[in-house]
Amino acid sequence: LSLIPGIRYGFGNRDSEAPMELLPYWSAMPVWNQVAGTAWVEVTTPKQDCGDVDAFFTTQPELPIAIRSADCIPVLLARRDGKMIACAHAGWRGTQGRIVKVLWEALAARGAQPKDWVGVIGPGIGRCCYEVSEELADDFNATFANAGAPEELAVPHYRHLDLPGINAWELRNIGFTAVEDLHECTKCAKADDGEPIYESYRRDRGEGRQFSGLVIL
Ligand SMILES: [Zn+2]
Repeated sequence: LSLIPGIRYGFGNRDSEAPMELLPYWSAMPVWNQVAGTAWVEVTTPKQDCGDVDAFFTTQPELPIAIRSADCIPVLLARRDGKMIACAHAGWRGTQGRIVKVLWEALAARGAQPKDWVGVIGPGIGRCCYEVSEELADDFNATFANAGAPEELAVPHYRHLDLPGINAWELRNIGFTAVEDLHECTKCAKADDGEPIYESYRRDRGEGRQFSGLVIL
């Protein structure tokens, strides 16, 4: 993503909820309410009121798009020419609802080709820290085994779901050849001083979140 001309992207953390890279554009940020669904919206105006939505795309310069999370997976997408960007909030509900695939169908309807795009899996809860109920593990198995995901993703090991891995697989299954997974677990990633880097709901059960997003310059 860092090789794409004319965009900026970044990830917030416990020190700064907003990514530093996006601060100059922050006043234009849309207004939205994440509901762990699969609805998306095209952002065309500053401070756009987007309603209940978990994915965004835009072709407009200086209109940042972002998702807010603390363990859910941020998925950032950019066209290689830097003229179109998108992002999605993929927690277990969004992932199970295949939000990345749903968002991509909207982009493909506008002519997007996967070979022209790059995807990044941002900081979110890793398989290391994401043990879920047997019922949810079985639901994921049914969805993603049927969708053709490899067994190590579709069949959770000790009920540890790999949400970053499944969303990266979604992108590759769409046809993306450039998928970067930061492998930053919001729950267990630590700075050199031993302090946690990211807000994590599973760790703290608190209100802290961080934004992950991007903007066309
Ligand atoms: Zn972890």
